[in-house]
Amino acid sequence: MSAAPAHVRWLRWSLHVDEASDGRPLCLSLANTRHWRNSAAPKELLNGYADILDWAVAKGIYSRREADALAAEANAHPHVANAELRRTIELREAIARVFGALAHGEAVREGDSAIIVESFDEAMRLMTLRVVDGRLVPGIPQGREGLELPRWQAAFSALGLYGSPAVARVKQCADDRGCGWLFVDTTRNASRMFCFSNECGNRARQAKYRERMRRAG
Ligand SMILES: [Zn+2]
Repeated sequence: MSAAPAHVRWLRWSLHVDEASDGRPLCLSLANTRHWRNSAAPKELLNGYADILDWAVAKGIYSRREADALAAEANAHPHVANAELRRTIELREAIARVFGALAHGEAVREGDSAIIVESFDEAMRLMTLRVVDGRLVPGIPQGREGLELPRWQAAFSALGLYGSPAVARVKQCADDRGCGWLFVDTTRNASRMFCFSNECGNRARQAKYRERMRRAG
């Protein structure tokens, strides 16, 4: 997206994502591939391009067969695969900072949104739109499946979530050890405080219980 002159205004703007309904949009799933991100000892899940492919298969971006073919391509071109790994992690960290800031009511840095828009722009240049069963379905031209697709889809997801009402429901796990898990709170009364692992919530509940017992003597 090139910068429009200040007097030009978009009259309509909507980039919808259905995926926010289960509280685990693709962009936040990518952000969560760094476990315990706010602790002193984060656990990195993306240590090589093959890890991105495993994640893409788990999220349904690629079939195992497609991923195996791309793994062979990544092995044949390690510089390209490593560059894509770096860019995916750069995007992931920008996504984590943007939604981490929004979850805490803080300002989003322009540089972080620019990193997301950069990958979004790349995807837009290749994206095709087809009508399937009356619905508009995005895709890419046959034969252009490549190492960048997981990153592009995460960038789409990030801008879709950022522009949707669900953005007000983005939260970060309240665990005080630095879990840092990002999610969309889909509870009716917006009461979820902890991630989907039972551990963080249970630990907080147990601490509350112990405190109550202590006060009760
Ligand atoms: Zn947690």
